[in-house]
Amino acid sequence: MGNVAVYPGSFDPVTNGHMDIIHRGLGVFDKIIVTIGLNPNKKTLFSVGERIDMIKETVGDNPRVEVDSFSGLLVDYVEKSEATCILRGLRAMSDFEYEFQLALINRRLNRNIETVFLMTGARWFYCNSGIVKEAAGLGGSVEGMVPDGVLRKLREKFPSLNANSSDVSW
Ligand code: ADP
Repeated sequence: MGNVAVYPGSFDPVTNGHMDIIHRGLGVFDKIIVTIGLNPNKKTLFSVGERIDMIKETVGDNPRVEVDSFSGLLVDYVEKSEATCILRGLRAMSDFEYEFQLALINRRLNRNIETVFLMTGARWFYCNSGIVKEAAGLGGSVEGMVPDGVLRKLREKFPSLNANSSDVSW
């Protein structure tokens, strides 16, 4: 099966920053399993089915990328998937502390699984799903931050987005 990494997240919705990590990850790993962590206590804008569909549509027909969801412990999911690594993206320093804690707890839970971090592309430094949702909800343009299919879905949720379509340049 080769070198498989699990890329977990909420992906609510998937952004160009996430896609950048997936593309970079494919340069390092033979296969990436993009998986949505199900957390019943966390309110999301998109259902898990919608989030999976948006990732699948964006990735297209690539046998090296699988899209899935999981509940329970991430390390158990990784072990079951026969993957050896957890893939995470790092943006600003503010990600670091949380990601460091997460990596340490996961290592404590399963010593055989390593967490591998890839640095974001400079363009996606400030791009995260939360900011995308907030801007879109207020009718602000998020073009250039999310894949086209996601933009379409955001326009369905937030009709006022249609009025604004200026491109974002960083
Ligand atoms: P978000 O922080 O966007 O709400 P997720 O929980 O879906 O994201 O994040 C999943 C993983 O993707 C995390 O490791 C997160 O740091 C990473 N990630 C999210 N956005 C970016 C980005 N713009 N560049 C690099 N990594 C990112």
